Amino acid sequence: MPVSQIWCNVCSAYRSVDLDGGSDCPGCGADLSESADPRVGDSAPWHFWLVVVALALYLGWRLVQGLAALVG
Ligand SMILES: [Zn+2]
Repeated sequence: MPVSQIWCNVCSAYRSVDLDGGSDCPGCGADLSESADPRVGDSAPWHFWLVVVALALYLGWRLVQGLAALVG
């Protein structure tokens, strides 16, 4: 039986919801089926890693520039 962590806006908390037994929040009873987020539990979205890679490349290049300036 699939149990999923779903964000409840009413409780402002993640709730463990058994999707076979309905999608009501165990805390407040709100219907969480609309707010089910399939991304929960996955890693960060691809554009986050794109930014991380770009930042790493930029900082790496600045490090090379800094070392070159130190060496002269
Ligand atoms: Zn709730």
